[in-house]
Amino acid sequence: MGTKPTKARPQVAPFHLPKAIAGSLRRHTKAAAEGKEEVSTPLKYVWIYLCETHCARGGGEPAPARMTLEDWLNVVDESAALGAESIFISVETRLSEWPELWKIAHWAQETHDMLVAICVNESCLSDDQLHELTQLDHDKTRIYVTRDNLESMRYIERFGYKVYVGEVLEVGAVQKACSMPESMLCIGPEGAMYTCGLVLNDDHYLLGHACSQQFESVMGDHSLPHIIPEGIAVTERRCHACPPLMEKRLEEQSGA
Ligand code: SF4
Repeated sequence: MGTKPTKARPQVAPFHLPKAIAGSLRRHTKAAAEGKEEVSTPLKYVWIYLCETHCARGGGEPAPARMTLEDWLNVVDESAALGAESIFISVETRLSEWPELWKIAHWAQETHDMLVAICVNESCLSDDQLHELTQLDHDKTRIYVTRDNLESMRYIERFGYKVYVGEVLEVGAVQKACSMPESMLCIGPEGAMYTCGLVLNDDHYLLGHACSQQFESVMGDHSLPHIIPEGIAVTERRCHACPPLMEKRLEEQSGA
């Protein structure tokens, strides 16, 4: 574990961290006052899924507003306060459309010592994107790519960053109920939270909004769908770079 840096967050209002800490303190104080142990939250993975909002909604309606950088940093702070140790960011469109992604990644690493995994859909990075990437801690960064882009993206490894295939080849339907979302929140570009990337923008799997709901209550609310049932159609790409699935794959590869 690296030493946690003390440098102030650049270009952000100073209320993110106090908000997360105050929330955590309030919960501890309430639990202590009631003489009961605080229920531990299972949030382990945060999956930020950056895609075209208007396409995903089916057109017609005006596109919902994208989360601001402030909102995303709050997501990181609140997730870290609940014990999440990694942030996965899947980018379905061009990386250049999401300049905030690098600031989110920086904040997660420098302030919370989190692992950051970025799933890109490109065959090479522009000079600007490569420059941004090389500002990240390579020991705490993973890059996921498609099988087709693996060879062309391998040059990134020369800079010390590991490149992995994030692809999940199975398409058709979920063969067995998937309980991996029980430790995860998947958040779309406008802040809507879903069970996982497979069901992003499906209202049946909407868990709430990242700006208005406490993550702890969402994770602890068993009336919400935290499991993907058997038989749900698996569309192309949507299970790609799924955080718990990628962790499981790495563990299997390392023989752990
Ligand atoms: S994205 Fe796929 S593998 Fe990941 S939790 Fe959802 S159904 Fe399971």
